[in-house]
Amino acid sequence: MAENSVLVWFRRDLRLADNPALSWAADTGRPVIPVFILEAGDRGLGAASRWWLHGSLSAFGEALERLNSRLILRRGPAERTIAALARETKAGAIAWNRLYDPGAAERDGKVEAHCRKNGVEPHSFNASLLFEPWTVRTAQGSPYRVFTPFWRRCLSLEPDSPGPSTPSPVPPASWPASEALETWNLRSHGRAAAFLDAWRPGEEGALQRFERFLNDGVTTYREDRDAPGESGTSRLSPHLHFGEIGPRQIAAALGRLREGEGRSAFMRELGWREFSHHLLFHNPDMVAVNLRPEFDRMPWRDDAESLRRWQRGWTGYPLVDAGMRELRTTGWMHNRVRMVAASFLTKHLMIDWRLGAEWFLDALVDADLANNSAGWQWVAGCGADAAPYFRIFNPVAQSRRFDAGGQYLRTWLPELRRLPDRLIHAPWQAPPAALAEAGIRLGEDYPLPVVEHAEARRRAMDAYRTRVRRNL
Ligand code: FAD
Repeated sequence: MAENSVLVWFRRDLRLADNPALSWAADTGRPVIPVFILEAGDRGLGAASRWWLHGSLSAFGEALERLNSRLILRRGPAERTIAALARETKAGAIAWNRLYDPGAAERDGKVEAHCRKNGVEPHSFNASLLFEPWTVRTAQGSPYRVFTPFWRRCLSLEPDSPGPSTPSPVPPASWPASEALETWNLRSHGRAAAFLDAWRPGEEGALQRFERFLNDGVTTYREDRDAPGESGTSRLSPHLHFGEIGPRQIAAALGRLREGEGRSAFMRELGWREFSHHLLFHNPDMVAVNLRPEFDRMPWRDDAESLRRWQRGWTGYPLVDAGMRELRTTGWMHNRVRMVAASFLTKHLMIDWRLGAEWFLDALVDADLANNSAGWQWVAGCGADAAPYFRIFNPVAQSRRFDAGGQYLRTWLPELRRLPDRLIHAPWQAPPAALAEAGIRLGEDYPLPVVEHAEARRRAMDAYRTRVRRNL
């Protein structure tokens, strides 16, 4: 086995371009051994994400093979597995790109200490954020808790330019053994066939999608991004999550566009991603703990039946149901609808946001501990920079405003397809004759609302006023 080789430990950076750990290793001119380790109990890796990971690893392995390299697959606790592989390959150095999730810094710190003790040089880099969490601070030196000043500060800083797109790693004289990807059984998701129609995991898929968005989507992004029936957003989220494309590549490409082409609106969304990752780094328990402690007093309801109806897209509110069915079928949901569906669960049904976040983590192909926890806490009102609690989304008003022609509803709720635009947003208000003409038996083909909007709103506001705000 080649002595003095360099292990490159891949995690959520499954790309060749702008990959500083891989470029650094390739530039040493020493033999490079790329490795991916699957750890048991990765809490961000739900069923849909596992499906994605399979595709991403498969695509990345093929891309490395085209460079006369390979991706070595191993399973086990990262620290032990990487140490064993370093011994086996007589590696002189290990390179990786940093992660900022809870536990990541601690685990990587252990790997680093182990390397140093055993004479293996550790080298780590930033590949997944524009700026690392400890580099963006207020004038007082503390992390930001409010998005707007955070993003203003980011805009005053210059992110590094993206690295080279085609590194040339030298292969070792002989390769260590690799497990076969198929044996990991990552693709057992029940909707795998539908996912294949919707997505192409891997770096090539990411770059194609980004290019399409640059050509067709970014100029109208500001206007179209809130309409779930339009393809108005980039759908880059799973690619970004798995690091098949990095934010610096996106920022650099957008920087080449003229201002006013939707560029700043889109960059701002990348800013929310950045903000969420920085928040999670500074508040590792926000995956399960309210960022505003007064929300610990919220009397969440224990209502398994309503939770199940929400999960299945059977609440009787078409926009919520369409979103939950889009999620089940494609592993993705439009951002506007994520907000409405999450608000419905936490406010109309008064079910704990953590149950919703858990469902999303399992069902989303872009499931991301930082963006998901921040998104849920924002909607539930308990986040650092959250929607005010009294701003309770009205699912019917949102539906009329953002899907006026019912295009989105008709895609995901075929049973309502024949209702006219003015009635499709609230079928229970439709006259019996209109329902009959559209072939709908309410309560059978499509449910009656699980709660009444005004009543649910009153209940949520009462709970907030009497329990959460009580001691403020
Ligand atoms: P675009 O509009 O094209 O935006 C480009 C990129 O910016 C996205 O790919 C994403 O990386 C980032 N981004 C956009 N909006 C946000 C946002 N509000 N917060 C953080 N980053 C953002 N996003 C995830 O990636 N994973 C999640 O698990 C996740 N869970 C969410 C849960 C809730 C309750 C809510 C309200 C939002 C959640 N989001 C999550 C954020 C957002 O809905 C998705 O990032 C977005 O819908 C992805 O679609 P897109 O790539 O077309 O976005």
